[in-house]
Amino acid sequence: MTTRKLPNILITGTPGTGKTTTAELAADACTLKHIEVGKLVKELDLHDGYDKDFDSYYINEDKVCDELELLLKDGGCIVDYHGCDFFPERWFDLVVVLQTDNSVLYPRLQNRGYTDKKINENMECEIMQVIVEEARESYKEEIIVMLKSETVDDMESNVERLMEWCENWKTNNFI
Ligand code: ADP
Ligand code: MN
Ligand code: MN
Repeated sequence: MTTRKLPNILITGTPGTGKTTTAELAADACTLKHIEVGKLVKELDLHDGYDKDFDSYYINEDKVCDELELLLKDGGCIVDYHGCDFFPERWFDLVVVLQTDNSVLYPRLQNRGYTDKKINENMECEIMQVIVEEARESYKEEIIVMLKSETVDDMESNVERLMEWCENWKTNNFI
């Protein structure tokens, strides 16, 4: 039983699948707050340095969770991050895993100017369904939704679904 007055939604998936774009649009549409964890990590130094080899920060999961706990306490947040296994399960009412076919994901990652190493790492992550598995190990099956994110139409229908879901939650769980 939750004591939140608004839902918290996690949008996860391999880098490039459209988390930030989708979260931003959904947050506007549902009047929720968008929390981009990667950005928060940089802004508030919630990391233990930078890994040059992998071109990414060593995220400090404890610091991130301490920070997010305050932000998520009352609900009403859409959290966006390419991982999901270190957040407390109780935080989220819905976990969305975005998925993108290789043929679409590859050029998106190239457009970001990622190194070949980083592109390959992320392609493998998507092919091996790493984040889907991570979500299944971390949250109840019934709150996990997998959504295809390849076209603008996909994006629009995903935002639409999030809106409907959010309205339902408000009707059924408002305390
Ligand atoms: P993530 O936050 O998961 O890394 P982004 O939201 O930054 O991904 O999206 C990566 C790129 O792909 C952006 O240029 C975005 O406009 C584009 N994109 C994301 N999702 C879609 C989609 N469903 N259809 C078309 N383009 C998309
Ligand atoms: Mn992003
Ligand atoms: Mn866990």
